Amino acid sequence: MTKQPVITIDHITKIFRMGDNVLKALDDVCLQVEAGEFVAIVGPSGSGKSTLMNMIGLLDVPDSGSIRVAGASVSGLTDDELCSLRAESIGFVFQQFNLLARTSAAENVGLPMLYSGVPYDLGWAHKILAAVGLTTHATHTPAQLSGGQQQRVAIARALVNKPHVLLADEPTGNLDSQSERDILDILVQLNRAGITVVIVTHEQEVTQIAGRVIRMRDGKITSDERQTPKYLDGMKSQDQSADSSFRLYDSGKPVRDTGTKALLRKVKSYTSEALRSLTSNKIRSFLSVLGIMIGVAAVIAVLGLGEGARKTMEKELAGLGSNLLAVYPGGSGRHMGGGGGSNPIRLFPEDVTALKIELEYVTEIAPRVNSKAVVQFEEKIWSTSIIGTTREYAKLRAAVPDLGRNFTKEEEDSRGRVAILGRTVVKNIFGDKDPIGSEFKLNRLYFQVIGILPAKGSNGWQDQDDVVIIPLETAMHRVFGFESIHMVDVQVDSAEHMSAVESQIKALLQQRKKISDEKLEDAFTVRNMAEIQAAISSTNKIMSLLLSIIASISLLVGGIGVMNIMLVSVTERTREIGLRKALGAKKSDILSQFLVEAALLAILGGALGVALGWGISAVAAAMTNWPFEVSPAVVSMVTGITALVGIIFGFWPAKKAAALQPIQALKYE
Ligand code: ADP
Repeated sequence: MTKQPVITIDHITKIFRMGDNVLKALDDVCLQVEAGEFVAIVGPSGSGKSTLMNMIGLLDVPDSGSIRVAGASVSGLTDDELCSLRAESIGFVFQQFNLLARTSAAENVGLPMLYSGVPYDLGWAHKILAAVGLTTHATHTPAQLSGGQQQRVAIARALVNKPHVLLADEPTGNLDSQSERDILDILVQLNRAGITVVIVTHEQEVTQIAGRVIRMRDGKITSDERQTPKYLDGMKSQDQSADSSFRLYDSGKPVRDTGTKALLRKVKSYTSEALRSLTSNKIRSFLSVLGIMIGVAAVIAVLGLGEGARKTMEKELAGLGSNLLAVYPGGSGRHMGGGGGSNPIRLFPEDVTALKIELEYVTEIAPRVNSKAVVQFEEKIWSTSIIGTTREYAKLRAAVPDLGRNFTKEEEDSRGRVAILGRTVVKNIFGDKDPIGSEFKLNRLYFQVIGILPAKGSNGWQDQDDVVIIPLETAMHRVFGFESIHMVDVQVDSAEHMSAVESQIKALLQQRKKISDEKLEDAFTVRNMAEIQAAISSTNKIMSLLLSIIASISLLVGGIGVMNIMLVSVTERTREIGLRKALGAKKSDILSQFLVEAALLAILGGALGVALGWGISAVAAAMTNWPFEVSPAVVSMVTGITALVGIIFGFWPAKKAAALQPIQALKYE
């Protein structure tokens, strides 16, 4: 059986139409390239050399005729199959080097490994770089290399997948004569190591090193001759021992890596590529994510403050106890303290007793008076709120002392001078001392500390720990001289009895105080705490809805910003995309690369937005004394949503990039 030619070109034609002009770039061309040949294609500019080369390299398709690689026709192959075949069997070297800027020589060389699916092995890239004489330049970026060195990197890149054929299109066109000799030396040595080399050149001199010279003119092959290759002056290859560099090329092909491993490697590479692209255009990237950033910051700030406020309100409401009714004199606007208004009633201990006796479904009742007073221990003086109440208060308002104890009935009845202190008061007059059992002065009377309240924190407008609780009778008669009670808390046994009890209280007080119907409004108020809870949660719902609208609009605007910049990026990097495709990148590879970049851009905007929103919340919280809270759930939700926005709005630009034809993209200026 005869050996199949590596490449068979069979009667191919390529026609370019420019308006009315029809140009036959290739006109019925036939050509066979055998394994191990060194072929030079030569001819004047415009004769069709590059077009033929692109056909051989499977970068372009003919209008008619067929191409076979190692005997197998490529006409039925899909785009992706062509990509794989190209990545595995063909290495390209271009006149313009086409290296990725800002990327080290070694990474440039490693790029095709990413697309061919073999394990990404930078050590191998270094070995090939050494073989082309760049041992010490592996970490240099293209800008730090001379033209000749850049072309050597490009050759190393073409070799990394161990192709059977190396195609070089005017590889020395942009080089000085010494660099030209160096590059030609490498090609000769590669050919001796067994690689088929096809080189396009318009320089007669260069053709001397080839074993076969094909001349072209006007899209046709005019001659095809074999010859004995000659070395040019200054070529080192005359010394055969120089060949040893490419012995490393003898080992077999590496095994492909598939599945998750290959995928992870790609994602990692796309991410670092995207980061490089974003950081090299810092200001542009920043401006394009401003929309997302501001939107996210607004949402975080409002959510953060709102969430903080909601939590403290909920805590406070829970502290009020469930199923609680608060009764106080005066209209509903006149909370706490009584007095004022046209006809407020006055509540006396007998009224509380009557409530206790008459009301059904009630578990606890706690009357109280409120005032301010100055407390003093040794030299320390502090002005604080005083609550005079009964033992039941502790249960109703979640104020059971967590150190010490509550009042006893005896202490209440005997108007005892005992007090339960909030943490702020303890801190301000006792400092680090244990106050339990100590005596302190409250409006010049001595009181003994019997308990300490659990810490409750601020409710947004007042410090709930800045309080002293003393027995009701002591407060009314010994300290302040109040005759009436300011407020009565009534706890109902279950939610469904709330309104029944509310009506009972109203009826009872109206009858006891002999209030006419029209004056009832201003006389006293029965406040249902459950209703307040419901009102707060409905306000919260409206807030969330408004927030979602703001968030959607800002994300839409931000997404358009991302899309815009990605379109610019795709246009700017057309050549790079062409190169990647020539090196074996599939549509899906290019698509993923740009999607990763768009998502990263959006996430970056989201992250900046979270930071900004956090800052705004912290400043606002510090200024207003409102707590704020940015929960991890909100942060991860924002990250997820912004990434999604990036992917959605980046899809069109990414698709545009993926659809580029390698040959057109490579020619893009
Ligand atoms: P060479 O490499 O020998 O200089 P080419 O193969 O690049 O020549 O081009 C052959 C002819 O085809 C030229 O006349 C060129 O202008 C034309 N040509 C090549 N590519 C295109 C294209 N994409 N569109 C239109 N004309 C083209």
